[in-house]
Amino acid sequence: MDDITIIGGGIVGLSTAYALSKRFPHARLRVIEKENQWAKHQTGNNSGVIHSGIYYQPGSLKAKFAKAGSQQMKDFCEKYDINYDPCGKVIVATKETELSLLKYLYDRGIANGLDICMIGSDQLKEEEPYVEGLQAIKVPQAGIVDYKQVCETLVLLLKNHGAEMLLNTEVKNILEHEQKVEIITKVKEFNTSFVVNCGGLHSDRLTKMTGLKPDLQIVPFRGEYYELKPDKHYLVKNLIYPVPNPDFPFLGVHFTRMVNGGVEAGPNAVLSLKREGYRKTDFDLKDFSEVLSFKGFWKLAAKYWQEGAKEMWRSYSKKAFVKSLQELIPSIQEGDLEPAPSGVRAQALQSSGKLVDDFYIVSGKRSIHVCNAPSPAATACFPIGREIAEQVPEVESNQMFIKGS
Ligand SMILES: Cc1cc2nc3c(=O)[nH]c(=O)nc-3n(C[C@H](O)[C@H](O)[C@H](O)COP(=O)(O)OP(=O)(O)OC[C@H]3O[C@@H](n4cnc5c(N)ncnc54)[C@H](O)[C@@H]3O)c2cc1C
Repeated sequence: MDDITIIGGGIVGLSTAYALSKRFPHARLRVIEKENQWAKHQTGNNSGVIHSGIYYQPGSLKAKFAKAGSQQMKDFCEKYDINYDPCGKVIVATKETELSLLKYLYDRGIANGLDICMIGSDQLKEEEPYVEGLQAIKVPQAGIVDYKQVCETLVLLLKNHGAEMLLNTEVKNILEHEQKVEIITKVKEFNTSFVVNCGGLHSDRLTKMTGLKPDLQIVPFRGEYYELKPDKHYLVKNLIYPVPNPDFPFLGVHFTRMVNGGVEAGPNAVLSLKREGYRKTDFDLKDFSEVLSFKGFWKLAAKYWQEGAKEMWRSYSKKAFVKSLQELIPSIQEGDLEPAPSGVRAQALQSSGKLVDDFYIVSGKRSIHVCNAPSPAATACFPIGREIAEQVPEVESNQMFIKGS
């Protein structure tokens, strides 16, 4: 037993393995992924935005890690020749009632140490000619990247380092003992000295396998998108966002130019009836009954049923979806959009009905569990990975981990 095992081959698992390879260059590393490819779930279906950190509560991990992470992501892309574009974005107030919230967001961005500026409607027209807004925040730090390409590079670096990279290996149970951890997979069993769970949509289940019982459950929210038809790409230069609802920063349709071409519009966020349910018709009895039997879900639903109903209505009505988009770009029409692939977010919810807002990491004796890594965790993956690597004990009783120089 002289190794560390990371479960989950999304961007958080891979960046954690990368950080561990730096902190413990002599330890044997193993990354276990249940799918037949890396980054198949949240990481491979996200919007590809390098977030700046403007939205998040000052002092939170999200604020700290998004700011540091966006710079580290750009540096990593430069170093390994990964296509990215530091194009910046605008957050636009379209109604008088949004102006105070926009100012609040601006102050938050300043408190988070960002170099942003408030612009009026004339300057907004220069940035985004087809957007109608009263005022906007210009955020030059935001950018776009292909996170799958970032993961491919991380996999290559880990393989070169000598890490064991295992696909098609689903973890079924984790038994944490005094001297070792047993990991039982569909394929074989592993003994390891330390395990890091970066299981995304299944991270709560993996955590509970070790006997830990954090007060949370992952609830899957599907983000549904449309894409602008190629002859309408001119409507969007870069990234155009509305003023977010502070209770649900992940709601609110926006426009995102993608680094590999194309412009995404969305998302509409609805409860997914399956943890990995990318289509409206996807259903899994176990996943859904777990949601229904969780009291936190009912408390959330009772409090925010109106927001939920609005999102569900928009999920079925393209007209309603387009109406929301027209608040930012009035000239956009139903015929300008075609359906695009969706993504499912792993959102941790507490039994009190409170959504866990910040990144949330839980430790066992020989394990660390990333229990909540929603957006901007792709942007923030390098600081998250480094934080986890720092939390792995340097030297344990049998002197297994020898810290590298
Ligand atoms: C629609 C959408 C848009 C987003 N947009 C952005 C954005 O623009 N910018 C940004 O910074 N963030 C964005 N995010 C958030 C970001 O994508 C996620 O926070 C991030 O990808 C989380 O990475 P992860 O590695 O934790 O999860 P994942 O990428 O989901 O990886 C978890 C992995 O664990 C594996 N796994 C699970 N259970 C097991 C098991 N039992 N055995 C073995 N393997 C297992 C899964 O197969 C999966 O590959 C978005 C998310 C979504 C869904």
